[in-house]
Amino acid sequence: MNKVEIQNVQFHNFNMNEIIKIIESRVLQKNRTFIVTANPEIVMHANQDHDYLEVLRKADFIVPDGIGIVVASKLLKSPLKERVAGFDLMGKLLHLAEQKQLKVFLLGAKDTTVEKAYNNIMKKHPDLKIVGYHHGYIDINDEKLVNHIVELEPDMVFVALGFPKQEFWISKHIAKFNKGLFMGVGGSFDVWAGEVKRAPQIWINLNLEWLYRLIKQPTRFKRILVLPQFLFRVIKYKK
Ligand code: UDP
Repeated sequence: MNKVEIQNVQFHNFNMNEIIKIIESRVLQKNRTFIVTANPEIVMHANQDHDYLEVLRKADFIVPDGIGIVVASKLLKSPLKERVAGFDLMGKLLHLAEQKQLKVFLLGAKDTTVEKAYNNIMKKHPDLKIVGYHHGYIDINDEKLVNHIVELEPDMVFVALGFPKQEFWISKHIAKFNKGLFMGVGGSFDVWAGEVKRAPQIWINLNLEWLYRLIKQPTRFKRILVLPQFLFRVIKYKK
């Protein structure tokens, strides 16, 4: 298997096009699929929370979101091909869903945010079938909401509750669905809603998206500090 282990988390070494092809074929065959786009914060958290690590082990695919993961793979001399940013992957999957007339459900973010995200996604993809959306300030055990989503028979469910809640929600409920792709997308609905700006492409190409986010949202400072700690651990536990 084409996998790279980083701090107890097994990453699939696929580039963006490869993972899209795999998801496309699984969704069209109506195979249930749980995908995690994991950044250094997720990996660090998994090493502190055993239940979360177990949830990640149930994922069908884990792909590297964040340049920190790609750098770590290089330090370990098992380089991952490229960063697969969750927001970009979601964008490509929405395009696929529009082309193939697949049903999409959006779960997460604040009430007004998810509504704006829905409107902006529909502006960009007028033929997309978004069968429903719901805010993310929910109890993870809310079965009524889950039953409602199950009845809509979505082919793709994007879950924007932030980690670890989004992966816990998916792992808890995915078995109730007969089909569908389930993916945690963190703050992506905030970006779709226009409430958070993604870094300009040049920053992304220079692998400086983390720096842009730090400048724009200084409150994230503590979270960014996880990155050097993560790389330190990777080097320390290198065999
Ligand atoms: N959120 C939510 N329910 C919660 C907590 C958070 O829907 O109980 C949403 C929040 O509104 C935001 C997203 O989850 O849209 C988290 O964004 P963040 O950038 O923190 O996520 P990350 O990408 O770092 O996981």
